[in-house]
Amino acid sequence: MAKLYFRYAAMNAGKSTALLQVAHNYEERGHQVRLFTALVDDRYGLGNITSRLGPKRAAELFTPETDFLELFAAGSGISCILIDEAQFLQKAQVWALHELAHMHNLPAICYGLRTDFQGELFTGSASLLALADEIDEMKTICDCGRKATMNMRVDANQRKVTEGAQVEIGGNARYRAVCGRCFRQA
Ligand SMILES: [Zn+2]
Repeated sequence: MAKLYFRYAAMNAGKSTALLQVAHNYEERGHQVRLFTALVDDRYGLGNITSRLGPKRAAELFTPETDFLELFAAGSGISCILIDEAQFLQKAQVWALHELAHMHNLPAICYGLRTDFQGELFTGSASLLALADEIDEMKTICDCGRKATMNMRVDANQRKVTEGAQVEIGGNARYRAVCGRCFRQA
């Protein structure tokens, strides 16, 4: 049976690269997938999933209003839904993906951040941690060599920022993926 997957990591752990690899693997075997990314993420231009290693692909944009049940419940001919920046999903959207997996046999693999720059769960991540059938942590390394688990927002001088909106409009905020100790000592 199909499952709902959540693969989370700190920033720059290669989530988009992994997603594009999964898409490639499906397509190489003659299966179709649909790719989504969040409208709020405009680091690389709207509607693209971009690997920092180079490859990029166009993706459909989801907003809080995107109705995944309406898009896919009636059948779609695809084998998997792939969602980047899944921390920006709404709770109801995660429930919809859960329903598609379990009632319509359509798996969804969601890639996203676990927490924001203040160490708080994103809405989509909280629901995915609650509902996903399989949860995997993708690991990346802090400058100090420990596993990076936190997303530290920094200013132009690389100093830690502790106040502000969860998502900075325009996507211009800078971040560093750091371990818990470096996050606290910053
Ligand atoms: Zn560290």
